[in-house]
Amino acid sequence: KPGENPQINPKLKEQHLEFTKGMVYTRFPPEPNGYLHIGHVKAIMIDFGYAKFHGGRTYLRFDDTNPEAEEGRFFQSILETVRWLGFEPWKITYSSDNFDQLYEWAVELTRRGKAYVCTCSAEKMKEDRGMGKGHPVPCEHRDRPVEESLREFERMKNGEYPEQGAALRMKMDLTSGNPYMWDMVAYRVKLAPHHRTGDKWKIYPTYDFTHCLCDSIENISHSLCTVEFIPARESYEWLCDALEVYKARQYEFARLNLQGTFLSKRKIAKLVTKKLVKDWDDPRLYTIIALRRRGIPPGALLSFVSELGVTTSESVTEIKRFESSIRSYLEESAPRLMMVLNPVKLIIENVPDDYRVPVQVPLHPKVPSMGTVETSFTKEVYIDADDFREVDSPDYFRLAPGKSVGLFKAPYPVTCTSYTKDPVTGQVTEIRCRLEDGGNVKKAKAYIQWVNVPESIKVEEVRYFKPLFKSDPPPADFESDVDPDSLEVYKNAVIEPAFYELAKKAILDARKESEERTKKAQADSAPTNPNEHKPLEGSEAA
Ligand code: ATP
Ligand code: MG
Ligand code: MG
Repeated sequence: KPGENPQINPKLKEQHLEFTKGMVYTRFPPEPNGYLHIGHVKAIMIDFGYAKFHGGRTYLRFDDTNPEAEEGRFFQSILETVRWLGFEPWKITYSSDNFDQLYEWAVELTRRGKAYVCTCSAEKMKEDRGMGKGHPVPCEHRDRPVEESLREFERMKNGEYPEQGAALRMKMDLTSGNPYMWDMVAYRVKLAPHHRTGDKWKIYPTYDFTHCLCDSIENISHSLCTVEFIPARESYEWLCDALEVYKARQYEFARLNLQGTFLSKRKIAKLVTKKLVKDWDDPRLYTIIALRRRGIPPGALLSFVSELGVTTSESVTEIKRFESSIRSYLEESAPRLMMVLNPVKLIIENVPDDYRVPVQVPLHPKVPSMGTVETSFTKEVYIDADDFREVDSPDYFRLAPGKSVGLFKAPYPVTCTSYTKDPVTGQVTEIRCRLEDGGNVKKAKAYIQWVNVPESIKVEEVRYFKPLFKSDPPPADFESDVDPDSLEVYKNAVIEPAFYELAKKAILDARKESEERTKKAQADSAPTNPNEHKPLEGSEAA
């Protein structure tokens, strides 16, 4: 915008425009240290959506500067998830593609007297940076001669320092009120092999050094990130200016937070390693693979995030709101089917053994076009143990001795005449009823689910998920707050054959749709994508 940045270097601007032709360039820059979560859906929609809206381009940039935490399966899954959501990167890049350039820039920065090698301990550095005291003080290395820092940096690079033995720090502004200006670390020693560069490097650039420079290299026009990076904008610009390279404009938006849970990959990784959840796709988590496993289609996630809108004010979204958004997205398209979780046999006494009435059960109460499934109403049916009470009460409308209830879509209600209990466990094992086909009971007050006994299919296992944590929000010591009853397993549930067939079809359809979506996303981006994607080296798929 005119007047917005008077210091803009006209030459850099010209070079940038030559590359971009004034087009919007954004990037989605995940760190490949875990699977994406629902918060990333928002970031993906903003990064890809903003560029798409303006006819621009979006990179998927793996921010792979932390060799220890990165695994091939994460790279692969991140790309798959972006595609599953319907977006196709213009190019797939890696921060590590730029390790040589970044290193040269680090040397240049040092040469310019704007970086120095510091060999203080981590504690000393923390203390000097004013943590707890409120103001930073320079350490003894800050004013060492440039030549000395260059030499020490070379030694760092050659692996002559152990991890945490030395760091290259940017010589920023210790008088600033912004901690991001207090001589941030640019490079540190890490001896772990890197996923893509192997053991070529013994030093790795930090996020603060890497991010703005990769944005610069890729000619990003709008560097979109979450609001906690507002104070980091100053150091982002400082570094680009110090090296006199093109600098993108950073814009911030509020993170998506969900009540009663957390999204941080590092914390989820902890739950997984400690086996407090089954894996990254445990349905109690809010990773995208978990939500997908729960049967939530990509459109429902996109619609939920759209409803929340984009602002800069931090907020925590209620899980109820998330669930009701998904439910309303699925409302018109999800078939209703009957399942009995905890079956008890109900025997109708006043009908012959071969009693069998065909029943049409609509798949949706309000969408007749969805059709019906056929089943039979028979002498013996299963109902849920929870739909029967031994002691009746006025505010209870389901089955109890002497009481009537409707069986969903069955021709007549039934009235309970007697029941049998297991003498040891006290559990109700059989309920006997009278079919009210004589007109005594005209209309039932409530209808319950049922499955006929002869055709019932036993489900090997039904898993019922409740909130993972006991507290809301989960405490810092979240591991001990995991609710062991948050996963309920039912081993005796029954369904009817039509349920089985439909579920099978739904799974196959979802698979097909997801494949088509990926194809479409790829086709959509094809004309603007002259360069082949680089293979995901070292990843499982490769
Ligand atoms: P985490 O703490 O879960 O690891 P992160 O911010 O470190 O999150 P990255 O993989 O670095 O995760 O994030 C990639 C992009 O996604 C960043 O631009 C980041 O700002 C954005 N992002 C991460 N979490 C959220 C969230 N909850 N809401 C919106 N955007 C998010
Ligand atoms: Mg990050
Ligand atoms: Mg993180």
